[in-house]
Amino acid sequence: MDERARDQVIVVGAGPVGLVAALRLAEQGIPVTLIERETTLPHDLRASTFHPPTLEMLDTLGLSEPLIADGLEVPTWQVRRHETHERAEFDLSVIAGDTRYPFRLQCEQWKLCELAMARAEADDAIDIYMGHTFESLSQDDDGVRVQCRSADGEPLDLRGRYLIAADGSRSTIRGLLELPFEGLTYPETTILVTTHFPFEDHLPGLSRVNYVWIKGGTFSLLRLPDLWRCSVYAAAGETIEQALEPERIQTKLKRIIPSQDHFEILEIRPYRIHQRIIEHYRIGRVLMAGDAAHINSPSGGMGMNCGVHDAFNLTDKLARIYRGESTDLLDLYSRQRQPIAKEEILGQAHRNRTRMLEPDEDERTRTLRDLQATVADPVRARDYLLRSSMITGLRKAETLQ
Ligand SMILES: Cc1cc2nc3c(=O)[nH]c(=O)nc-3n(C[C@H](O)[C@H](O)[C@H](O)COP(=O)(O)OP(=O)(O)OC[C@H]3O[C@@H](n4cnc5c(N)ncnc54)[C@H](O)[C@@H]3O)c2cc1C
Repeated sequence: MDERARDQVIVVGAGPVGLVAALRLAEQGIPVTLIERETTLPHDLRASTFHPPTLEMLDTLGLSEPLIADGLEVPTWQVRRHETHERAEFDLSVIAGDTRYPFRLQCEQWKLCELAMARAEADDAIDIYMGHTFESLSQDDDGVRVQCRSADGEPLDLRGRYLIAADGSRSTIRGLLELPFEGLTYPETTILVTTHFPFEDHLPGLSRVNYVWIKGGTFSLLRLPDLWRCSVYAAAGETIEQALEPERIQTKLKRIIPSQDHFEILEIRPYRIHQRIIEHYRIGRVLMAGDAAHINSPSGGMGMNCGVHDAFNLTDKLARIYRGESTDLLDLYSRQRQPIAKEEILGQAHRNRTRMLEPDEDERTRTLRDLQATVADPVRARDYLLRSSMITGLRKAETLQ
């Protein structure tokens, strides 16, 4: 076996998690082979929010500055009532003492992937196989063996010391290892609509990230550098097929801005939301990370961020192992990351979703008053923002042994 095959880490999946893991390992002098099924990186609209600790981590790879230059800094976000414009507005300057980046960065996930891929391509320690699908694996005391296939049907056999499964929510690796992905699929379909329509000119005091109650429903408005992304839902009695009809999308937007006759729509994309997690992130020499290990409601914008935090924790442990420390550190990776994803990320995302889907007007009023009281109290506001910005979870993880 050649030296590289003995030492390398094989990473499956060139999403944000696999790419960041590959860059971090290469930075520590660990050889990596990165396998990606797609021939080019997709530009579909997925994550759009980067939280402060993620920017701090990405900064160590020199990726935050270009991301910030290509994104939009959002110092405040709000929960609001559409009819009255009443709102609770959280201001991240409250946590300026806790982070160098006291804002949410609104920026498309694919921009991170493009930047990270350009860096990976320029790094001799990283071999990249685009258009190659992972198919099977085996492991023994010496390492892992991975079989892949190119788009033309050519087999590719690889050997390595460890395998990082960053192959996303439908992870083939998770399936092959028969790891139960416990949880649920929420009943509703979210409809993502993008438009250049200037909502900020029509809705007083709008922030760039807004979660909104409207009579009988909810919607969110998230700003990206050059467009708004608006999440809406099927109306009562409407099938999802009906809800997606262009005229009905117009009706949904007209409920938000009744004075507007027509909205120019760039993209309509329905998606289902799940809340699922595996129990252990380490299976021998296979390490699960990102969506392959946990998925949650996008409410609060935490899924990708959580996966990047997995990648940092895991690659710290691997680097220490390559320097001679015990492989038990890989169990510590699982013990530190799994409970945080479960309690802090899945739990929080679930509560955010439940809050916005609450139909009862009195309950909405109580929740809004409570959020406004939190904003008005500096201690409570800081606590709340540390948690929603994913700092509390990372601090807790450090205390887990
Ligand atoms: C609409 C929407 C909005 C979201 N908003 C946010 C947000 O604001 N903030 C946030 O933090 N998160 C958000 N998320 C979640 C975020 O997109 C995911 O958590 C993130 O993409 C996970 O990254 P990953 O690298 O683990 O997986 P992925 O990005 O899914 O990457 C997995 C990669 O593995 C490849 N792959 C899969 N199988 C194989 C195989 N067999 N062989 C080779 N390659 C394979 C895939 O092609 C893919 O490139 C959102 C998601 C959606 C759908």
